[in-house]
Amino acid sequence: MAKSITELSPEICKNLKGVLADIDDTISLEGKILPDAYSAMWKLKEAEIRMIPVTGRPAGWVDHITRMWPVHAVVGENGAFYFFLDESCGRDGKLVRRFMQDEAVREVNTKKLFELYEKLKLTIPQMNLASDQGYRAIDIAIDFCEDIPRLSDRAIAKIVEHYKKAGAQAKVSSIHINAWFGSYNKYECCRLLFKELFQEPIDEVKEQYLYVGDSPNDEPFFAEFDNSVGVANVHDFLDLMQSPPNYVCDKPGGLGFAELVEHILKHRS
Ligand SMILES: [Mg+2]
Repeated sequence: MAKSITELSPEICKNLKGVLADIDDTISLEGKILPDAYSAMWKLKEAEIRMIPVTGRPAGWVDHITRMWPVHAVVGENGAFYFFLDESCGRDGKLVRRFMQDEAVREVNTKKLFELYEKLKLTIPQMNLASDQGYRAIDIAIDFCEDIPRLSDRAIAKIVEHYKKAGAQAKVSSIHINAWFGSYNKYECCRLLFKELFQEPIDEVKEQYLYVGDSPNDEPFFAEFDNSVGVANVHDFLDLMQSPPNYVCDKPGGLGFAELVEHILKHRS
């Protein structure tokens, strides 16, 4: 049974070094970042608490988020990379893109993903690349309903199977099928980020960090972190989860995120 966020202890809040957060429906609410949520990120920064968004969104988005939001680093494309600003290079910092795979591997994989796509297009001509494909660095995203008439369940299953048979990973979101080669995931990418940016093994400092999310795709982090928090919309999925969060906010999405940050900061002044 998840506890109220008000039960997150003063000791945990006082010792917190950083917050890892999902973006969609956790920092955002109904597709928008509200002032409360954006301002909460600034408050974390002012309190010198590291803010690290972790998302499936594409490299182009992550480039923008890293440069313009008050964040420490960003994990993108389901753990294919993290980006950060190297501030030793001057006031505005220089963007550093750290990929889980080296360039030669990425090139070969990208070529294979697109060859598989061209082949499949011959049998499912109505499918299309997602409109955000141009902003992706690693995975291929195939639209099945966002900007085209919805494909049949059979066609979706066929696309997934086609990529899996070729040894790729393939995941179905609410709008796209994402496929990529590689065994990385979001948590492994965070492990690398902690080692390289903070010189800390993530498994040894987890009690000084917190993860906040909203849905089953956040479960691997809920399982790893004792300080795991769901915003209120996580209630829709709690029955389906093997690893629910230990704490839940009263408010949904970004309003819940702001509520969490208020609670943390209350114990630090
Ligand atoms: Mg989410």
